Amino acid sequence: MRECEKLNNCSFVQCCDAYSKSTAARGFVNMYCKGSRMEACVRKKLSTKYGREIVPKNMMPNGSPLPQTSSADWDIKAKNYFKYL
Ligand code: SF4
Repeated sequence: MRECEKLNNCSFVQCCDAYSKSTAARGFVNMYCKGSRMEACVRKKLSTKYGREIVPKNMMPNGSPLPQTSSADWDIKAKNYFKYL
C-alpha cells in the first residue's frame, strides 16, 4: 500500500518523538497514512482543499483534537470540517 504524500511534512505525524513512539500513533499511521483510511483523513482533505495552514497541529486524522487538547483556537473550517468538506 502506498503512503500518504503528506506524510513527511504532516505536522501531526512529525510533531514529536513521543508521538512517533506511541502505540496509538502507530495505529493511526497504519490505518490512515499507510492504510485503507488514507483518503478519509480529515487533515488530508482540509489541507488539499484549503491549504495546510488551516490544519491544526493537534487534529487527529479522524478530525477530533488529540486527547487532553482543545479545538478552541481552530479555524472555523477545521472546527466544522463536516460542513466544509
Ligand atoms: S495524518 Fe493524514 S495528512 Fe497526515 S500523513 Fe497521515 S493521512 Fe496524510
